[in-house]
Amino acid sequence: MGKRRYFTIILIPHSSERTLSIKIPLYLIWTTLATILLAIVYSLFLTHSYIGIIDKKDDLTAQVHTLQEEKNQKESEIKAYELEMQQISGYLNNLKDLELQVRQKVGLELPTPSRSNIDRVRLLKASDSQNNEDIIEELQKTTEEYQRLLEEIAAREKYLRNVPNIYPVRGRITSRYGNRINPITMSREFHPGLDIEADYGTTVRAASDGVVDFAGVKSGYGRTVIIKNSYGFTTLYGHNSKLLVKVGQKIKKGDPIAKVGSSGLSTGPHVHFEVYKGGVRVDPLKYLMGGE
Ligand SMILES: [Zn+2]
Repeated sequence: MGKRRYFTIILIPHSSERTLSIKIPLYLIWTTLATILLAIVYSLFLTHSYIGIIDKKDDLTAQVHTLQEEKNQKESEIKAYELEMQQISGYLNNLKDLELQVRQKVGLELPTPSRSNIDRVRLLKASDSQNNEDIIEELQKTTEEYQRLLEEIAAREKYLRNVPNIYPVRGRITSRYGNRINPITMSREFHPGLDIEADYGTTVRAASDGVVDFAGVKSGYGRTVIIKNSYGFTTLYGHNSKLLVKVGQKIKKGDPIAKVGSSGLSTGPHVHFEVYKGGVRVDPLKYLMGGE
């Protein structure tokens, strides 16, 4: 058995009262000192940690601030982007409207509902990335449609140059295509062309593009020009006083081809104008009035 060691503290009052002695075991003193030391070390540790946390907090606050700024920046970028996509949708719709107008103006077929996606584009919302892909797809389609439109316009232009739709001369129509009483024989007959009165020597112009197929005298028709056009058209100009073209010559619509006269079976200076379509005579007025 170890002997317990003690300290005795004696309190001596400065009076006549009796002294007070406190007996303290040594281990208690050590334990107390050790506890105080531990408390000091622990509080130092806590202080250090606290300072670290404060620093971290400041860092995090700064980071949150930066992230907030980035978020605001991104949000305004997205807004601008949405606006751009909406504008693109708008332009796309305008393009589609323009295509319709161009098609109507040049007399081309209008797109079928499946090809015309105008309503679909109007419904697109720019914020949806799927819709953005749709807009890009629409832009590609519209570009292709415009390329096709240009090709169709070129073909239409070529066709229109070959349609006999301008008057060979300007003047009074004295006899139409169809059944009539012949002014010379006074018997009923079929008049296969259009008679247009004009002064002797007036320039006769080609009603369409083509190549001269005949230029000479033809029984009943007198001095005649026949022009072969594309798309199955052929035009004939009769009763001329003078011919200005030769067989094989290329002719543009409106080119001078003859001078008005009264050659052949005729009662006065006029152009007898015939139009053939696919080898069959048709009413020239149909095309002169803007048909087909
Ligand atoms: Zn005639």
